[in-house]
Amino acid sequence: PLTIEIDDLVVRHASDHKALDGVSLRLTPGKRVAIVGPSGAGKSTLLAVLMRLVEPESGSVKVNGVDLTDLAGDDVRTLMTGLTQDPYIFRASLRDNLRLAGPDVGDERLTRAVRDARLDTWVERTGWDAELGEDGKTVSGGQLQRLALARALLYDPPVLLLDEPAEALDEETADRLMNDLLDVTRDRTTLLVTHRLKGLEPVDEVVVLEEGRVVQRGRHDELVAVP
Ligand code: ADP
Ligand code: ADP
Repeated sequence: PLTIEIDDLVVRHASDHKALDGVSLRLTPGKRVAIVGPSGAGKSTLLAVLMRLVEPESGSVKVNGVDLTDLAGDDVRTLMTGLTQDPYIFRASLRDNLRLAGPDVGDERLTRAVRDARLDTWVERTGWDAELGEDGKTVSGGQLQRLALARALLYDPPVLLLDEPAEALDEETADRLMNDLLDVTRDRTTLLVTHRLKGLEPVDEVVVLEEGRVVQRGRHDELVAVP
């Protein structure tokens, strides 16, 4: 179990403009947090700080009390698995894509047996069985994103970072993916970045960012007039 405390982050990419201007956030085990806000609000920048791709000007990120900057790069990658708009896939069945690929494929702690067992659990939970024989190069965008999610979960990351996972999908597919996603991340520390407020009812905390600042936070039904 992992707690991430983000305290008063300020990030400047260039010039005087602050991409993040004093953002604080607490991620605790089993809590799903969504960051919403218009383009340019700083959502990707926040994820980039968590993945240690961007150095904040001030403020801190602590992982179970340890400063993120004191963790080894490998540890950060093991802790936080990201899911992007553009999942990597190779020419093989979806099942093989799930069994063979992944960020830590050489990781001896994650044996074939463990991966297969987790894959079975995933299939059972999603009913996503028939499609697993299909070629990864021919499936739809929605299936690709579900694949990416399944693949991320096989590594059982303590923290799951999701950057606009439904971005490239049509409305109906996006709805279905978000449903799956919120279901399988129920017990996990999850940070979801999205500009869609729709479907975020189950999320524990929705944080609205605008111009690098938190302008609202609360459960979906507590928010007022979000664009
Ligand atoms: P969002 O993900 O909410 O669209 P971003 O984090 O991408 O927002 O961007 C926040 C602000 O920082 C924007 O003003 C954007 O133009 C700026 N920005 C983002 N990345 C960079 C970068 N690599 N260099 C300079 N400015 C950047
Ligand atoms: P997103 O909203 O998903 O961040 P953007 O189109 O805002 O997508 O940004 C795409 C990429 O360009 C990101 O890697 C971001 O960091 C970078 N970027 C955004 N704004 C700027 C900017 N003003 N200068 C340089 N890079 C930028």
